[in-house]
Amino acid sequence: MSRAYEQLQPYLERVQAFQTARILFEWDNETLAPKEAGPNTSRMVGVLSAEYFSVITDPQVKKLVKECEGEDLGQVEKAIVRELAEEIEKLEKVPAQEYREFSQLVSEGTRIWADARKNKDFHSFAPTLKKLVEYTKKFASYRAKEGQKLYDVLLNDYEKGFDMETLDKFFDTLKSQLVPFLKKVTDSGTEIRDDFLTGDYSEKDQEAIGRIFAEYVGFDFDRGVMAVSAHPFTTNLHNKDVRITTSYNRHVDDSLFSVIHESGHAIYEMGIPDELTQTLVGGGASMGMHESQSRFFENIIGRNQAFWVPVYKKLQEQFPSQLGDVSMDDFVKAINKVEPSLIRTQADELTYSLHVLIRYEIEKMIIEEDLDVEKLPQIWADKYEEYLGVRPKDVAEGVLQDIHWSQGSFGYFPSYALGSAFGAQLYHYMKGQMDFEGLLRAGEIRTIREFLREHIHRYGKLKTSRQMLKEVTGEDFNPQYYVDYLVEKYGELYKIAI
Ligand code: ZN
Repeated sequence: MSRAYEQLQPYLERVQAFQTARILFEWDNETLAPKEAGPNTSRMVGVLSAEYFSVITDPQVKKLVKECEGEDLGQVEKAIVRELAEEIEKLEKVPAQEYREFSQLVSEGTRIWADARKNKDFHSFAPTLKKLVEYTKKFASYRAKEGQKLYDVLLNDYEKGFDMETLDKFFDTLKSQLVPFLKKVTDSGTEIRDDFLTGDYSEKDQEAIGRIFAEYVGFDFDRGVMAVSAHPFTTNLHNKDVRITTSYNRHVDDSLFSVIHESGHAIYEMGIPDELTQTLVGGGASMGMHESQSRFFENIIGRNQAFWVPVYKKLQEQFPSQLGDVSMDDFVKAINKVEPSLIRTQADELTYSLHVLIRYEIEKMIIEEDLDVEKLPQIWADKYEEYLGVRPKDVAEGVLQDIHWSQGSFGYFPSYALGSAFGAQLYHYMKGQMDFEGLLRAGEIRTIREFLREHIHRYGKLKTSRQMLKEVTGEDFNPQYYVDYLVEKYGELYKIAI
């Protein structure tokens, strides 16, 4: 090990410790912490964030990173130094005072947004949103390379190698093919029954079946736990402590598929090797790659007819009065029913990416075209009507539905759609390598999971999503696989001649 790298170790350990503590507080906040704990805990989280900031921007750290860059390091060490250098660059360009103001604004922003959403009043949030946009653009301008567009700086934070040029092509592909295809689906006249998915599904039974299915797809309960929160999410402390949450309501498929989705995120994190965990490269490669794994488990595996062949009986046994008389075919049709709707997080697999397309187009207007934020509710509603054929009746089910902008996150949304597209490209390739549906029918999910572990999970952040995709499938990112997958699957379900 090089001397400079060795000297970096205690700093890297502190960075990990502060991060882990902060993440654990966040988890606790969303799951078990009492209601009034918030403000006091936030102060401690603020201290931890400031400590993190001070380690990263410590001049000694910068000096050691520079020394390391000139030395002959191993692959893992090199990647860790690269991540650290990027983090330094990101933080040091923003004046500490402005960073604090922005953090403050974000914590107020989420509260104001939540109230505005509750009261269906966009105007009470608009001034805060305007400030958040100004800060975001200012910070991006500090970091922009010469000639680089501000939105490209933001996009690069979430998905390296995906700028507006690539994403415009991606979303154009979706728009030009999926919008007319969706119209055919909704005009097809094919009726799919799904009333049996809603009803008296007790929380206890839903939890029991959730645990069975999490384990079935590969979630390891010796290295992970499952809890309840308002919105499902996954928290990763290290490869032996990965936590998922779910929520329960009268729709049994909501919790079931959110458990499989979060299990996909968790399986990714559990597959990070010991050598990488608790380092700066010990997590999923990117937001998009993470979402590719969760959505792969949820949709490509979990909503696949073949998946249910060996296990549908288990579900019927858990819910004999609700599903005892429902055939597997009817159940599988129901969980794939297409229904253009207003809320992204409840969207079906076919319409999902169109929700993301709308956010991408709007973010571009906000960041690159100085759009007046007061116009957002109108633009939002018009785009929903144009692409999905539905129009929100108020801002709560329209422009105020997502938390992201109130947190100052711009450029995050495209990853959701990219993830689905990465997954479809992987699926296309994997079908040529193995009898994918045959494995599902035989209950052999392990073989599929091992493939993903071998080709994706074990690399952590050593490679970018785009690099990995190319190395696994032998081809650069190609969104056509995603469109083909959807058109084939839903064309069959809705009996549409292609
Ligand atoms: Zn997810």
